[in-house]
Amino acid sequence: MKIGILAVQGDYEAHARMLERLGADYVLVRTPEEAAQVEAMILPGGESTTMLKFLKGEGLEAALRVLDARGAAFFGTCAGAILLAREVRAPAQDSLGFADLVITRNAYGRQLASEVRSAPSKLKAEPLEMVFIRAPWIEEIGPGVEVLAREGGRPVLVRDGRILVATFHPELTADTTVHEYFLKLAAERPSFVASESGRASDSGRIASDAGASKFASSQPSTTRPSPMPRR
Ligand code: GLN
Repeated sequence: MKIGILAVQGDYEAHARMLERLGADYVLVRTPEEAAQVEAMILPGGESTTMLKFLKGEGLEAALRVLDARGAAFFGTCAGAILLAREVRAPAQDSLGFADLVITRNAYGRQLASEVRSAPSKLKAEPLEMVFIRAPWIEEIGPGVEVLAREGGRPVLVRDGRILVATFHPELTADTTVHEYFLKLAAERPSFVASESGRASDSGRIASDAGASKFASSQPSTTRPSPMPRR
């Protein structure tokens, strides 16, 4: 299984090092063609407003929506969590909306501009180390969202089905627990619809179909560009 790491801005290298340590197959994703090759995606920490500009400008947003429609697993940390939320506040901004969450940016203010804390989680017996950097708050969660860890009473690690969201940065610690959890989640998802060809030349067509919820079945094979004559 190939994991994509969105690499337009932010701490994507830290996620890459984590996946290297875990022996996972990954690719840095900067283009819709690269996104079309993967079966799960990590959206790193950084600056969500900047990432959003790249997503919209480079056709990547459409490519990520196609991956979502195919049932891919997503993991967002901090800015990545903001991108995955259904609604973003303070200030409001666009988002992918794959996770049923309302999130408020930079909500801790200066007290928690950057701080390392630890709190219990459902992932392991020992407390989880949590690096917060201008972290958002998860304000509301939908009924299908499972809280995997809280810090200071607030959810900080949650799962909405195949979408994993952390408001902190597990990629900036030595602990691989959260990434291991994500790899397991991504490998288990039964509903992933494999790309029909994975060819780079197909990605434009795939991107233009973003939003089709039954992506694979909605594509009549006769519309597929093919070098071979069809019967
Ligand atoms: N405050 C940043 C944002 O709004 C997120 C910070 C981070 O990813 N560490 O995008």
